[in-house]
Amino acid sequence: MDALLLRRALAVALMDDRDTVLRDADVLVEGAAIRAVGRDLAAPAGARVLDASGKVIVPGFVNTHHHLVQSLFRAVPAAQDATLFEWLTTLYPLWAGLEPEAVRIGALVGLGELLLSGCTTAADHFYLFPRGQPSTLIDETVAAARELGIRFHPTRGSMSVGASQGGLPPDHVVQPEDEILRDSERFIRAFHDPAPLAMCRVGLAPCSPFSVSPELMRETAVLAREHRVTLHTHLAETLDEERYCLERFGKRPFAFARDLGWVGPDVWFAHAVHLSDDEVAEIGRTRTGVAHCPTSNLRLGSGIARIPDLVRAGARVGLAVDGSASNDSSDLLAEVRQCLLVHRLREVRAMSARLALRLASRGGAEVLGRDDVGRIAPGLAADLAVFDLQDIAYAGAWHDPVGALAFCVGRRRADTVLVGGRVVVEHGRLALVDEERLVRRQNEAAARLVK
Ligand SMILES: [Zn+2]
Repeated sequence: MDALLLRRALAVALMDDRDTVLRDADVLVEGAAIRAVGRDLAAPAGARVLDASGKVIVPGFVNTHHHLVQSLFRAVPAAQDATLFEWLTTLYPLWAGLEPEAVRIGALVGLGELLLSGCTTAADHFYLFPRGQPSTLIDETVAAARELGIRFHPTRGSMSVGASQGGLPPDHVVQPEDEILRDSERFIRAFHDPAPLAMCRVGLAPCSPFSVSPELMRETAVLAREHRVTLHTHLAETLDEERYCLERFGKRPFAFARDLGWVGPDVWFAHAVHLSDDEVAEIGRTRTGVAHCPTSNLRLGSGIARIPDLVRAGARVGLAVDGSASNDSSDLLAEVRQCLLVHRLREVRAMSARLALRLASRGGAEVLGRDDVGRIAPGLAADLAVFDLQDIAYAGAWHDPVGALAFCVGRRRADTVLVGGRVVVEHGRLALVDEERLVRRQNEAAARLVK
């Protein structure tokens, strides 16, 4: 079995129950898993040894919400200064031009950028199936993840209520509900792997209360539970959505979801910004998950999610960059800093660097229902992000090398990233794909789509 020893790291953050940080420590990887953590570990015969001096090792981050294809639509001028509903109605017609090749390239860029920021497990919410395109469009994202070597949680999204039926999206980007359910089942059978250390696990994800019917939400939950896969959707993101739900369903977004069976340890919501005290308590009590997307919420003026309250209530909470058209970046380490800072607007002690980093790693793993990633311990997946602190941006911060990752704005690229023991980022570059070529192809595809 291939072995790799990361030797004498400045600090190793275990993300265990006591928030242990080891100084001058080693991490030994064997095959796809972590074998040992500690000081002066012996390198097995034939092991590759990497000098980690001056570097910090953290568990690979976990991104809990994304729309990878949106990396093709960053900074679109007409959608730069828009609220969520304005932003969506501006971009739906452009998204309608997506085809398999563009989906693949966009996913490679979004996932590649995540890897470079130290993220080793990523969820994606793919809900755009333009009329005339095959349902296998989403399969391109799985292929992209395999090419890059990142652990992947694709969620089969859906939209079924178009503008003619009172929904927000135009009719030519929604699908019939029987087709959605049929393809959801196909997608689970094709790609879901429930085994420990799985590289791909599937979830089902109707898009939002303003683009699917209550029936589809209910039937999707039944199908997911039959196959023991997770459930994901956007919820309580904006006050516009709240008004829409009150007018159309006579209830607030959370009640809409809850009454359709959408709470519990197999469910997670993106955003959950506008919640009452009772709703926070119920999300916590039911161990429902939340993907916190601070940059996207600021970018679209949606609001500030009550993350400290949700954490206290017992909710599972992870971080997420959201789609790259509302961020407009897939940098999870930048999201850690955004999370650290934004909650301090209410109370300076509301968010610590340690908690923000914990949400980005262990918290995200809990949201995705995984106990084999998000921490550094023997037997867990060898998913590690190594950041080099020998950089002017970190000079003077070595008294807390882990905290420095959240407080200082460094080069924003991990030096080395391992997923399942495989080196996927080396010397700050993607190891398995040609970055220059990828950037060129993405710019060509984006130019075709955004005219
Ligand atoms: Zn989203």
